[in-house]
Amino acid sequence: MDQTTDLDNAVSLEWIRAIPKAELHIHLLGAIRPRTALELARRHRVEFPVDSLEFWAPFFCTGNLAQFVERFILLFPLLREKEDFERVGREVFEDLHADGIRSVEPRITLTSHLLRGVSEEAIGEGLAAAACYAHETLGMKVRWIVDFPRILGLQVGRLALEAAIRGIPWGVAGFDIAGYEGPGEDDPAYCAIFARAREAGLHLTAHAGETGPPEHIRIAINEWGVERIGHGIQASRDSDLAEELASRKIPLEICPTSNIALGAVPDIYSHPLETFRQQSLRITINSDDPSLFGTTLSREYLIAAAAFGWDRETVLKIIEEGWLAAFPPHDLYKQSEC
Ligand SMILES: [Zn+2]
Repeated sequence: MDQTTDLDNAVSLEWIRAIPKAELHIHLLGAIRPRTALELARRHRVEFPVDSLEFWAPFFCTGNLAQFVERFILLFPLLREKEDFERVGREVFEDLHADGIRSVEPRITLTSHLLRGVSEEAIGEGLAAAACYAHETLGMKVRWIVDFPRILGLQVGRLALEAAIRGIPWGVAGFDIAGYEGPGEDDPAYCAIFARAREAGLHLTAHAGETGPPEHIRIAINEWGVERIGHGIQASRDSDLAEELASRKIPLEICPTSNIALGAVPDIYSHPLETFRQQSLRITINSDDPSLFGTTLSREYLIAAAAFGWDRETVLKIIEEGWLAAFPPHDLYKQSEC
């Protein structure tokens, strides 16, 4: 075998980092620098169960989504003022930029801040300032996605939607439902929420089929009308659904390390990512909560490439899928106002 060709085609972390990438599935607080989180906890006198960097990622890699969500929500009280939102946003964008990311759609759970008394102005102004820094200084595109945790119910979903619509001028472009998938997914009231989001010009995605049954993915694409699916890995249990996702070209936002860390799959070799690729599903690779799982987007590509023997051409094709599946900005968003 020609060794020169082999080396030329090697997929390394440095090679992946150097390629401009789009990150479609990342939670802002899941990307917070651990040192910043601990500092904010001290400053705002918030009791946080982790007080040392060494225990940061192990605290969040629970092997269980429901328990992870309980721990994730402890991050919300760390941000109180406009400056906190701006600082966390700027630092996250700097870290993503260093990893070669040039377009990002961070998820933000507005209601989890608003319902504990943080003003909408503080959040909007802080995040808009961080996004302007990303645009102007780092040359990155930022489109915010507002999500709401399904365990908090429809009332919070409606509040999240109204806040998302009010956030369009500062850069909200998408709407999402997140968290542990319990029963009640078929409640028609969810359809009304997503329909109103679509009418407002927001792009739609939904965490579905992360640990919940394939039926949740069907509901999201057929009843809620979402354009992408967050995770969607349980489609591997339903060949008709996998075929439908492939024929309708619906992108899946796959987050390999997250799925392993939260017990959706036992290891990367058991992940349906490669099967999906061979079935011609549109797969994109994302990091979900890179700080909490101790990963980066480039590392996610590397892990999958190493496990499934992907060459550079295959990796480049999946990176391209990420760019093609990215949401455009809302018509009413004026980046020129930065
Ligand atoms: Zn997620």
